[in-house]
Amino acid sequence: MNIPKTKKQRIIVIGGGFAGVSFIKKLRNENLQIVLFDRHNYHTFQPLLYQVSTAGLEPDSIAYPLRKIFRKNLDFHFRLAEVEHINTEENTIYTSIGSLTYDYLIIATGTRTNYFGNDSIAENSMPMKTVPQALNIRSLMLQNIEKADITTDEKERKRLLNFVIAGAGPTGVELAGALAEFRKGILEFDYPDIDEKEMNVHLIEGQDRVLPPMSKQVSKKAQKFLEKLGVELHLETFISSYDGKTVTTKDGKTFETATFIWAAGVTGALIKGIDGKALIEKANRYKVDEFNKVEGFENIYALGDIALMETKDFPKGHPQVAQPAIQQGKNLGDNFKKMLNGKNMKPFKYNDKGTMATVGRNKAVVDIGKLHFGGAIAWFLWMFVHLWFLVGFRNRVVTFFNWTYSYINYDKAARLIIRPFKK
Ligand SMILES: Cc1cc2nc3c(=O)[nH]c(=O)nc-3n(C[C@H](O)[C@H](O)[C@H](O)COP(=O)(O)OP(=O)(O)OC[C@H]3O[C@@H](n4cnc5c(N)ncnc54)[C@H](O)[C@@H]3O)c2cc1C
Repeated sequence: MNIPKTKKQRIIVIGGGFAGVSFIKKLRNENLQIVLFDRHNYHTFQPLLYQVSTAGLEPDSIAYPLRKIFRKNLDFHFRLAEVEHINTEENTIYTSIGSLTYDYLIIATGTRTNYFGNDSIAENSMPMKTVPQALNIRSLMLQNIEKADITTDEKERKRLLNFVIAGAGPTGVELAGALAEFRKGILEFDYPDIDEKEMNVHLIEGQDRVLPPMSKQVSKKAQKFLEKLGVELHLETFISSYDGKTVTTKDGKTFETATFIWAAGVTGALIKGIDGKALIEKANRYKVDEFNKVEGFENIYALGDIALMETKDFPKGHPQVAQPAIQQGKNLGDNFKKMLNGKNMKPFKYNDKGTMATVGRNKAVVDIGKLHFGGAIAWFLWMFVHLWFLVGFRNRVVTFFNWTYSYINYDKAARLIIRPFKK
């Protein structure tokens, strides 16, 4: 794979997500060779994927070339490849483009969609973990509305205009809100032959409230916001199957739909070769100590969503959201610098900056410590935080412009079927 031979220590990083990027940024000018592997040549800002799915943002605004992020790093090499296997005895990784040895290995592979072993859902639902998947949802949604516009079969028209989302965590809630706004702001004007009331957005959740990871106060607020937007909520409802036409729940309810989006769970994106004590099977995450070192290994670290660090405050590990990933990446980068200078490493301490979710225009909810609030102020805060953390100045400007334009015009400019979705 054409990586220069070196006498320096070689660090291999798998995954250019929040954790991997934060880690490498810290080691810009160090006397190390760093090789980053990712199956995409860009970093994905996953919190805004739902806006790509619902035609609110172009995909380019939420992705950023990994090579560009690190163009000023010394002795840095990016390789576009899937890492398939780790041989911990030979300190070697095996990838879709060849193998490479490491002195240190950093695993920051995040998560993948969890279908909980349900084959019918895995085969027929639409996941939303990557930019191509978000674009698939955008195309399918628009294709189905186009089909509904021309069909004379009432039953089929209803199925095409029924949108069902599984999981009322932040992703499901944000998607449902954005789809309901699409109905309100776009459908009426772009599709004069479809009555707004014909399009339905169903949000199905197994627990007894929306946004289960957040406080009860904001959960109630978010529910009110969703109901105001006309989203049909089905709480304490478990989905048992989806055959491509009908979603069936465990209590026997059925939803005819041509668009079923699965936002009900993730599981660790493990790589073959590390198991035993290092693996917490129930969570599919690598067990790490307070320095993010994987249990049982001296030169392997795991960061972000894939790492499970048991602490007093977080006995089941940190939440699988962006902040722990960013903070762990930064802390480990600083620790590598300390190590190179013969200093002691600093244990990781999570600084919880709060959680937020948006439900639609002027509607968001925020938990920050003992503060729990929702409404327009929360929405502006949500926008500011997301713009701040987007990678790249251009992306921030384009996103800000798009949001301002949409706010003024009630518009979603990216409603284009560029690459039709085919099963
Ligand atoms: C739809 C959605 C919405 C979200 N919304 C929010 C939000 O609002 N707020 C929030 O804080 N968090 C949110 N999250 C969670 C947040 O995105 C994750 O917690 C965060 O991305 C974790 O960072 P990470 O670096 O551990 O992994 P990731 O950012 O997932 O990065 C992992 C990287 O590893 C690469 N990779 C994986 N396996 C391999 C392999 N075998 N070979 C090569 N490359 C590989 C992937 O391509 C990816 O680039 C959301 C997640 C999703 C999916």
